[in-house]
Order: sequence, then C-alpha cells, then structure tokens
Amino acid sequence: MLDSKNADVWLVGGGIASMAAAAFLIRDAGMPGRRIHILEELGLAGGCLDGSASPTQPGFVTRGGRMLCEEVYQCLWNLLDSIPSLERPGLSVRQEITAFNDEVRTEAHARLIGRGARILDARHYGLDGHDRAELTRLLATPEAMLGARRIDELFSPHFFASHFWQMWRTTFAFQNWHSAIELRRYFLRFLQEFPRMHTLAGVRRTPFNQYDSIAVPLQRWLLGQGVDVRFGHRVTDIDFDQADPARRRATRLHVLTAQGGQAIELAAGDACLVTLGSITADATYGSNTEAPPLVRDRRDGAWSLWETLARKADDFGRPHTFFNVDDNKWESFTLTMNGRALLDRIVEFSGNQPGTGALMTFVDSAWLMSLVVPYQPHFPGMPPDTYTA
Ligand SMILES: Cc1cc2nc3c(=O)[nH]c(=O)nc-3n(C[C@H](O)[C@H](O)[C@H](O)COP(=O)(O)OP(=O)(O)OC[C@H]3O[C@@H](n4cnc5c(N)ncnc54)[C@H](O)[C@@H]3O)c2cc1C
Repeated sequence: MLDSKNADVWLVGGGIASMAAAAFLIRDAGMPGRRIHILEELGLAGGCLDGSASPTQPGFVTRGGRMLCEEVYQCLWNLLDSIPSLERPGLSVRQEITAFNDEVRTEAHARLIGRGARILDARHYGLDGHDRAELTRLLATPEAMLGARRIDELFSPHFFASHFWQMWRTTFAFQNWHSAIELRRYFLRFLQEFPRMHTLAGVRRTPFNQYDSIAVPLQRWLLGQGVDVRFGHRVTDIDFDQADPARRRATRLHVLTAQGGQAIELAAGDACLVTLGSITADATYGSNTEAPPLVRDRRDGAWSLWETLARKADDFGRPHTFFNVDDNKWESFTLTMNGRALLDRIVEFSGNQPGTGALMTFVDSAWLMSLVVPYQPHFPGMPPDTYTA
C-alpha cells in the first residue's frame, strides 16, 4: 500500500501513461506533486503524442494522430476533465475537445479510393456469410487457443479483399500477418465502430495536433502541481531486492544523463512505474530527398531497458516477441503546404472540409496509403496560409 503523503513515486518515461499516472496520483490519491518524479530520456513530454517543427527541413511533422472515441477512452476523458484548457479559459481540455467536435463533426465521404481516383461506395462492406462466420469464430475463440496465430491463418482471401477489412486494417494499423489475438482485442474494444467504419463518425479529434491539445496542457498542469519532471534522463537499469515477484521491490534506478551516469536510491515505501517498449522507439526522420534510416539494433531506451529487465526475471515478459522490425515497421509523412491549392483540390474531390474526413485510403496502393487532412490550423502559431496533411 502506497503512503501517498510520504512516499515518492518514480515514473520512467514521459508519455501519456506516466503523465496520467502522475495526475491521478495527485487528484485521486492526494499525493503532493513534488513527490512524483518523471524521468524522460527525450527533451519533451508526451511520448507518441507528438507534433512539432520538422527536425530535417522547414515544415511540420505529426507522426500520427489518435482517433479517439467517446465509448472507449473513458480513462482519458476522465483525466482531461481535470486539466484546464489553454485555448478556452474556463473549460477543461475534455470540454474543449467536446465543443470542438460538436462544431467539426467527422463524417467521411471518401473513405476508400480506387483506381482512376474513383471514390468507392464504402457503405457496402463486402462481407459474405463465410467471412461473417470467420469473424464470429475469432470473437468466440479464447486467447489461449489463438496463441501465436496470425490474422492470415484465420481468414480466407475473400475477407481480405473486402471493403470492411480495407477500412478496419487502415483505421487500426493492421497487416495481414499481425497477431490474431491483437485483432480480436481490437474487435472487442471497438465493436461499436462496426456500423460507422465507412464514415468514421465515431472519431473524436482534438482542435490542434495532440501534442499541443493534450500533452502541453497536461504537462503544464503537472508542473503547476510541483511534479519533478526531468528530461534528458534515460533509465538504463533497475535493481531489485529479491526475485519473488509478490515481494519484489525496486531499490535503485540507474540513470544516464548528458553529465554521465547516476544512481537514484528508492526508499522502502517508494513506488516505481515503468513504460516499456514504446511504439515510436527508434523513429527516424527523412526529408523531401532522403528516406528515413531504418534502425534495427534497438538504440532507444524503452526496448533496451525492457531487455535488461527481462534478463533478470521471467515475469518481466518476452520483449523479443516484438523485435521483428520488418514485420512491424511503419512509415508516416506530413505535408506542409504553402498556399491552399492542394488543400482545396482535396476538399473538392472528397467532399470533406479539413477535419471532417478522418482517413482516405488508396486501396490499390501497395502500402494502403492513407491521407488525413486535419482541421486547420493544426499547430498553434502556424504562419499564415500554411496547412498540413
Ligand atoms: C502514428 C500513431 C498512431 C496512433 N493511433 C492511435 C489511435 O488512433 N488510438 C489509440 O488509442 N492509440 C493510438 N496510438 C498509440 C498511442 O499513441 C500510444 O499507445 C500511447 O501514446 C502510448 O503512451 P505511453 O505513455 O504508454 O508510451 P509512449 O508515448 O511511447 O511514451 C514512452 C516515453 O518513455 C520514454 N522512455 C522510454 N524508455 C525510457 C527510458 N528507459 N528512460 C527514460 N525515458 C524512456 C520515451 O522517450 C517516451 O517519451 C498511435 C500511435 C502512433 C505512433
């Protein structure tokens, strides 16, 4: 049991998981902010929730945007209910997002695009009785029986050619060879999206990119509460007092900073929560002329720390299961447009104003390339007549 007034909590990683943990500890457990410490190897908060000026050339980069929805993100909404909006004084971030989505509703008119720039009729999901039976079988099969099976072991070619699968896999980033267990979890979690896959009408967006609309106000609130946020702190190892998982306690964090290595001793009542295996680990940037280099040797702290911990005890999981870079890598791009010419052509083609279309997928592209045109401006303080997609 955590003594919330006297213990210290050490949070490794500065993504939404640690930021949320810090906020809940303050709000719900009454912990003083100064007793909460976030150690982040990068120079900014938010982890995957990023959005910034491009590091390689003029322009902006958002590696991705979360497609939030009312039904599923209850914990996030509850968190954002307590965080003041920076853009709309008097409102919480949750209220700000709700008000924004009341004004800018998602209703895609061009979800799937086929050959010859033809908008496909995505209302027809294209599933036959056999596909439905395979879907139902997956939902009814317990995870223990699915084991390491892949999606393409469980469905027939007709299913993979359906509009439904083209929409589902591009909404949730699935390849046909990915884990069947993962797909089953997504089906169960996002079941309510089935009838609105073709419009993505369930999607809730933030007014700006999610770094500026979620991470920045949350970070500001945490700092206001006195939370000790340390950037440039990479945790390389954690010492434990014993092997028994029921009694095991973290006793020391090994940290690397620009000044060198240091050890942080944890007192008997302290707690330590660690984010392992980030989805954006070892992300690299390309440019208009250079492809991003592919990192295969796990330089990022999230995976190397997990590997180090997994060597200490079996119950720390098996990070190697996820180390197949070629099967799991993904790429995104951000267009920065000076002038409205392309934006207006996309609006004319799709019938969607920026921010209302969610995702356009080019089904004959070998990458199943998808394009999102967010509400503009997507960054606070963007230069005039500049847009991103
Ligand atoms: C392009 C994209 C699209 C996505 N779309 C969706 C979506 O539509 N819906 C959805 O629900 N989710 C989506 N996600 C996933 C979601 O963004 C992540 O699950 C979530 O942000 C993870 O938060 P986290 O705090 O757990 O980890 P992260 O955001 O990965 O944060 C981990 C942090 O820990 C730091 N760190 C790691 N190791 C160490 C260490 N050893 N020492 C110090 N610091 C360390 C990292 O630098 C990072 O800042 C998407 C993700 C991406 C990238």
